[in-house]
Amino acid sequence: MSPITFDNSYARLPEQFYARQAPVPVTAPGPIRVNRHLAEQLGIDANWLSSEAGTQVVAGNAVPPGSEPLASVYAGHQFGGYNPQLGDGRAILLGEVLSHEGRRFDLQLKGSGPTPYSRGGDGRSPIGPVLREYIVSEAMHQLGVPTTRALAAVTTGDWVQRDGSLPGAVLARVASSHIRIGSFQYFAAQRDIESLQLLSHHVIDRHYPDAKNSDNPVLAMLEAIISRQAQLMAHWQLLGFIHGVMNTDNMLVCGETIDYGPCAFMDQFNPDQVFSSIDHAGRYAYRQQPAIAHWNLSVLAQALLPILDNEQERAVALAQKAINTFPDQFLQANTQGMARKLGLQAIKEQDTGLVEDLWQLMAEHTLDFTLTFRRLADLADKNTEAKSSVAELFEFPDSVQPWLERWHTRLAQESTSSTERQALMYRNNPVFIPRNHLVEAAIVSATDRGDLSTFDQLVDTLEKPYQYRKALALFATPPKPDQVVRQTFCGT
Ligand code: AMP
Ligand code: MG
Repeated sequence: MSPITFDNSYARLPEQFYARQAPVPVTAPGPIRVNRHLAEQLGIDANWLSSEAGTQVVAGNAVPPGSEPLASVYAGHQFGGYNPQLGDGRAILLGEVLSHEGRRFDLQLKGSGPTPYSRGGDGRSPIGPVLREYIVSEAMHQLGVPTTRALAAVTTGDWVQRDGSLPGAVLARVASSHIRIGSFQYFAAQRDIESLQLLSHHVIDRHYPDAKNSDNPVLAMLEAIISRQAQLMAHWQLLGFIHGVMNTDNMLVCGETIDYGPCAFMDQFNPDQVFSSIDHAGRYAYRQQPAIAHWNLSVLAQALLPILDNEQERAVALAQKAINTFPDQFLQANTQGMARKLGLQAIKEQDTGLVEDLWQLMAEHTLDFTLTFRRLADLADKNTEAKSSVAELFEFPDSVQPWLERWHTRLAQESTSSTERQALMYRNNPVFIPRNHLVEAAIVSATDRGDLSTFDQLVDTLEKPYQYRKALALFATPPKPDQVVRQTFCGT
């Protein structure tokens, strides 16, 4: 019996969707970590996954029965410039598994060797990017953000050549699917209408089955994708998450966050913050993210034109109308999320100034994004403030007092009790995020000394991002000036 039960719907699509490609074996696989809880949800025995046999599968040295390994092909706009063929250059889709709830997930290996889409790259990954993706994607999940997830990671025993020699690793990643905006672009650019149809049927079956009941299922699919991306952008903005490389090949149509390359959470609030070492123009800065998502979705709409309507003019009108709903959908999700962060049932028109002034103060005083909101949660109920206070880590400067008084006056108008308001805020303002200096420290320990304990502690801590524990205060503390990470690098 295979340790993993596969049902590979993508592999049943015709050959123009992918290249059959097995992972390329490595020299000496060793375990890094297994996500036992996720494994069990997927019906994969966590003990097996942690065993030598499981490690061999994650490393790509053994292909389990039922797997139909392939590299998928896609195109994409990278930093605004169109590339007609990208594809999985360092990833292999092993196949799909069904969770206990009957949900379908891709099981993919990242860093598993070259494919026909490697474009001269080695198809490998150093341990750093694998750990970064493990830490940040799992943190995002625990924070409630739709995301690809980390199932397991292993070392390869091989060296990867980048600026110098770095130890190699492979990540086993799980996603609702890996179908990107760029997957649609690939066929649209070739005027391959039949494949475009097939792909949209596949996406509708898999992610948007309700669209089938619509008069125009492709339009309904587009609208649903737009809604999910609007929600996703609100999630990111409300947590101070900066993706770093929002190319159209890095946006999944299922609405999950993917590609944790040069990503980072902000420490001090700065709306113009960019971390990516290759983003010289600030295209993917924090404040730009919703607008970039909007642009990316218009690229998707454009790709779908041939199958939206037989008549081009009508197709364009339908696409335009759908795309135009994005800003409002984002604003609504963002405003609702902001209300929860501030302990309010809703943000009313007269509250706009209060919210804007807070962002202004945060920017002016370069306040820590995460601790600002967490401290506000502490202050929401003066009776219970002592219980889980981060006052030891963060206090507002005196100049914020007038704003705090305005906020308290506003809170007093709510029909909820102060205890309820505080509970709402604690559920929506994390105290533990994958701070860059902590991620960096975990990567350095593992890369330089083969020591995974820093990584493990960080992943463990981030399993409960909303629950402050005094003993773990160091994980909630902003970086000291010499610990600040100013740049992150693509996971190549
Ligand atoms: P990314 O910046 O991670 O979204 O990658 C963009 C494209 O480059 C994708 O097609 C990747 O598969 C490919 N790529 C990135 N790194 C490598 C590598 N080391 N070897 C082969 N292909 C790569
Ligand atoms: Mg990518």
